[in-house]
This record gives sequence, structure tokens and C-alpha cells, in this order.
Amino acid sequence: MGDYLVKALAYNNQVRAYAVKSTDTVGEAVRRHYTWPTASAALGRAMSAGVMMGAMLKGEEKLTIKIEGNGPIGPILVDSNSKGDVRGYVTNPQVHFDLNEKGKLDVRRAVGTEGTLTVVKDLGLREHFSGQVPIVSGELGEDFTYYFVTSEQTPSSVGVGVLVNPDNSILASGGFIIQLLPGTEEQVIDEIEKRLQTTEPISKLIQKGLSPEEILENALGKDNVKVLETMPVQFTCNCSKERFGAAIISLGKSEIKEMIEEDGKAEAQCHFCNEKYVFSKAELEELLEEAN
Ligand SMILES: [Zn+2]
Repeated sequence: MGDYLVKALAYNNQVRAYAVKSTDTVGEAVRRHYTWPTASAALGRAMSAGVMMGAMLKGEEKLTIKIEGNGPIGPILVDSNSKGDVRGYVTNPQVHFDLNEKGKLDVRRAVGTEGTLTVVKDLGLREHFSGQVPIVSGELGEDFTYYFVTSEQTPSSVGVGVLVNPDNSILASGGFIIQLLPGTEEQVIDEIEKRLQTTEPISKLIQKGLSPEEILENALGKDNVKVLETMPVQFTCNCSKERFGAAIISLGKSEIKEMIEEDGKAEAQCHFCNEKYVFSKAELEELLEEAN
């Protein structure tokens, strides 16, 4: 079964919930960026949260998450949309540390414990929503939880997790977001809290083969969950040679002339997917023509 996410309601529509299996999606990002395990876990957690947050959008809306911590991986960027597309990178992909005291990948050490988490939503018609919170943990799940509570005033619980194989490929990746809608009964909140305290880590549940539906049933109780929609998710980048060509044109004539004279070609690389585009001298001359 490929990667997908589910949107659900629970406890008679008092609770909104999302869960995703993102093993292949994160695996593709890891292959493209050659990330080492701790960096892979950080990127995978951010992408898992990102793709679920994308699923909260509508139509052509999209969002960008930027996590700028003081750890060695540097800024993490994730883009997603309402269609299950997600892409992302970490600035320094070759970062790895020993497992932490809990025997888990030490994401906090890679991300850092100080900095900011910023979410920018592009809602179309030049309408943007932007929210920023300080990093409170560096483990990312807690940071997204804090973001929802503080910036979107939505009491939430975010769980994200990644397990990495000895050969650096991704063994399991996934996440959930559980949100209380206004007026959720105290007793429901207590029950969810109790359940979340005793549930196994999300990465473990994915590794065991639980589906996103089963993950929500596990977190919220089988009879409480009403699945509304399922949606495939995938690593997708919308870069293209045309886009990079347009970017070169926007540099202006003298800059393009310099490229032609000094190097006789130009290379551009997409941060998000690592795809490399090479422009030959003839292609640069065409771009120069268009810049005129
Ligand atoms: Zn790309």
C-alpha cells in the first residue's frame, strides 16, 4: 500500500483528526538529498506534519513551513498543498548523532532548541496567512503542537516519527494531528489525553503495519472515529527547466552575457528536489534574446 493520509472526525464531531503514512514519500526525499539518519528523521517529521497541514487547505491553496533552529542541520523547508503533494529539504543534510537517552534519533540535537517555526499559507489572490512561534522542543512534534495552540488557537496534539534502516533508507514514517473543536467536552479531552499517554510512538505503529485509519482508531477509540476522506500523498516538486530559465532571464542581460562569456554554460539546482538543470551556451543565448 502506497502512502496516504486520512481526514476524520471523532467523538460526534467534537474532534478533527488526520493521520498519514509517509514512509515512501520521506524515503524519496532522503534519496534525493542524501540525508544522514538524524537529518532524515528531522526532515521526515517536518514533511509528515507538513503534508497533513496541507490537507487542511482547500483547492489551490498551499503552504510553506520554515523551521530555523540553532542546531547543525540549519533551516528546514517544507512545501505542501491540499492535494497530498509535499517536498522539503534540510540545509545541511549530512548530520547524524548517536541515539538519545530514549534510544531514538536525536532530532532535537540536529534541529536545535532555540529558533523559530514559521508557517506561511498562500490562500490565492495574493492573500497570505503567516504564523510564527518559537521552537519549544526541537523534537518537532511538540513544536507543531505549540504552533497550533498558539498561532491558530486550536488545541492540538501532533505526533510525528521516523525510523531509519541501517542502510540509511526509511523503515517507517508517519504522523497524526488531533484537534479539539470549540466546545469539546472535558470528559472527551481527558479520555484522549489518557489514550495518547499510553499509545506507542507513531513510527513504531507504522513499522508494525498499522494503517492511518488504524492509527486514529488506536489514538481515539475504534468506535469514535468517522473517516471522511483518504488521499494519496507523494513527494512532488514543481520545478522545471522553464522555471529556472525564467529566473535566469530575470537576472538581466549583463548577467547572462557574463555567464556566456565566462563559463559558456550555467547550472542551476533545485533546493527542494536536488534536480540539476544545465543551460548550454546556445540556450543561454536564447535566454539573452528573451531578456532583450
Ligand atoms: Zn525541484
